[in-house]
Amino acid sequence: METNFYTMKTKPISYTDVIIDNDQTVTKKCPMCGSVLRERKYDKYKLRFWGTREGDLLFSPDCHIVSFNLLKLLYDNKVSGFLENEIDCTGWYDRKGKRLQKDSSSYRELIITGRAGYLKNMEGIEIPKCPKCGAKDIPAAEKEKGFIVDEEWDGSDMFYFKNWPGMIIITEKVRCLLEKNKMKNVRFTILAEYTFS
Ligand SMILES: [Zn+2]
Repeated sequence: METNFYTMKTKPISYTDVIIDNDQTVTKKCPMCGSVLRERKYDKYKLRFWGTREGDLLFSPDCHIVSFNLLKLLYDNKVSGFLENEIDCTGWYDRKGKRLQKDSSSYRELIITGRAGYLKNMEGIEIPKCPKCGAKDIPAAEKEKGFIVDEEWDGSDMFYFKNWPGMIIITEKVRCLLEKNKMKNVRFTILAEYTFS
């Protein structure tokens, strides 16, 4: 592939986090490898915001919450591979649990619809995976530095690998766009140098 790819995550600390209510997900465990997968139960997540500093991407282990400004950039620049979904935010609190008068109504869930194949190392060799659920072998993945996007990629600007759910992968175009417009709480790592360890 000609373009560079990047992982897109939140920064490790200090911005508002998203806490999803307990009853929003079901846990499924693969009988063969024991991998745990959490699946949503409802179309709309019920959640609350936790922290005072506003980001354009907010952290949650189960979903990606983004600001109106970030979504607008994606639409205006015809970025492919995502959908937006409404959220049911029950309040915005500081980290001591005090309710804040902050407006969460412009935030949405970002759903990634683009897809690539299974994870492969820089030589194009597939990372060993569970034959039943496809989960990557984590110790094997931790030995690698860098991963490639192969011909199974659907060409979307934003996508997931089949066995790396939840990790947003983006093209150079998206990285430039978000950096140029100074989106807050977004951090990129080039996929060709990414390490799990
Ligand atoms: Zn499995």
